[in-house]
Amino acid sequence: MEIQPLINRLKDIVGHNHVLHSDMDLTLYGYDASLEKGKPDVVVLPNSTEEVSKVVRLAHEEKIPIIGRGSGTNLSGGTIPVKGGIVVHFSRMNRVLEVDIPNRTVTVEPGVITLDLQTMLLKKGLVYAPDPASQKVSTLGGNFGENSGGPHCLKYGVTTNHILGAELVLDEGTVIWTGGKSQDNPGYDLTGLLVGSEGTLAIATKIMLKLIPTPEAVKTMLAIYDAIEDASNTVSAIISEGIVPATLEMMDNLVLKAVEESVHVGYPLDAAAVLIIELDGMIDGMERQAEKIMEICKRHNVRDIRLAKSEAERAGLWAGRKGAFGAVSRLRPSYLVCDGTVPRTKLPEVLSKVLEVGKKYDLPIGNVFHAGDGNLHPLILFDERDKAMLERVHKAATEILKICVDAGGTISGEHGIGTEKIKEMSFIFSESDFSFMRQVKKAFDPYDICNPGKVIPPAQA
Ligand SMILES: Cc1cc2nc3c(=O)[nH]c(=O)nc-3n(C[C@H](O)[C@H](O)[C@H](O)COP(=O)(O)OP(=O)(O)OC[C@H]3O[C@@H](n4cnc5c(N)ncnc54)[C@H](O)[C@@H]3O)c2cc1C
Repeated sequence: MEIQPLINRLKDIVGHNHVLHSDMDLTLYGYDASLEKGKPDVVVLPNSTEEVSKVVRLAHEEKIPIIGRGSGTNLSGGTIPVKGGIVVHFSRMNRVLEVDIPNRTVTVEPGVITLDLQTMLLKKGLVYAPDPASQKVSTLGGNFGENSGGPHCLKYGVTTNHILGAELVLDEGTVIWTGGKSQDNPGYDLTGLLVGSEGTLAIATKIMLKLIPTPEAVKTMLAIYDAIEDASNTVSAIISEGIVPATLEMMDNLVLKAVEESVHVGYPLDAAAVLIIELDGMIDGMERQAEKIMEICKRHNVRDIRLAKSEAERAGLWAGRKGAFGAVSRLRPSYLVCDGTVPRTKLPEVLSKVLEVGKKYDLPIGNVFHAGDGNLHPLILFDERDKAMLERVHKAATEILKICVDAGGTISGEHGIGTEKIKEMSFIFSESDFSFMRQVKKAFDPYDICNPGKVIPPAQA
């Protein structure tokens, strides 16, 4: 279809002011937080499920790609319009539709910002647990698309464990609901299939989330180490002694220094690594658990353990951790975040191999990650303008993911596959696995219009 008639038809659906097609707009919507780039043909900002349905039906009739977009903070190229098409940006569909306190659920539109929802719920004594470090800007639609994790997912589980159901627009514009408020739903678990499908099967227009009560008490500790192995060994020791803290996050020296320069909350500049260990839950027994954790840390040669003495101190520690990706941009203009997962007992071995990869390719690598989940985020620092260096970065990233897989882990803990890790999918899946995935994709999206070019490698000719 010619572009101008397409724009006119989209304006009829969502209104004149809600279709963007200037060169600058298309450039802006052509990238996300990954290193990939593309360009859509047009961007629409719908205001209702009905409008999304009409846009998707038009895309289906004309066989034009359709790409759902929240805030574009995904780190794997999930919103890159690799074949052009219509980007559906959910910034206007940002309403909280229902807070059901007795049933502890909330129903939202996909454009609601994660932290806005969490702040609103806190006032009602409720928590939506998944807390990606990007929560200030990420949307619930994006969290749904990526099955996002976050520091508190160690104890509470990732996004999929908190999604009860969703309203979905399918490829022909048909609207369906999956799941719901009841604890168990008969039939296929379509909600489970759709969460983390990166917009490649359908578009979510309403999402029903599970809530938990605010914990009675929280205790946050900073454990400081002179050797990264000791910090890593502490992580598995705490969990093997039967304690599952709310969070167990690690930062190494390179990241610590950048973070401290950015937030100034007293992170030790000379430490090899720190752990942020947070306990939450009932007051009763928490002191005992904290003492047990300190004892385990001491057994693993901790240099010092600091307890956050006030909410401000706790907030400072978290501001540093959650701002770590931003802080490292003080060191180099660009970074690539790897997102591999390993069994947590393998952390010391894998971390030292990651540092060897850095040496091999002459690239600084910092580590900030969800250590309790064994979910590594090596940050490879570089300058994107140096094309030879960029090539080394991609090679190093692939090698790091292979190390994770060889250690019994996998190629993504929470950032998805998108376009960036499509070729590494073969590290963990066989051609038969891909063939089955393609059948699932085809059942939802026979013309491959839903976010094409993502997740599943193309069939071999
Ligand atoms: C500094 C920083 C820190 C981060 N920290 C974390 C972290 O701790 N944990 C973590 O898991 N991730 C983290 N991320 C990655 C990212 O923020 C998450 O993946 C987040 O969920 C993306 O949300 P978004 O609104 O930006 O989604 P987008 O990037 O816009 O979209 C993400 C995916 O979801 C799809 N999608 C969007 N809306 C819909 C919809 N309505 N229906 C169906 N599919 C849809 C898109 O097509 C795309 O495939 C971080 C990113 C940054 C930049």
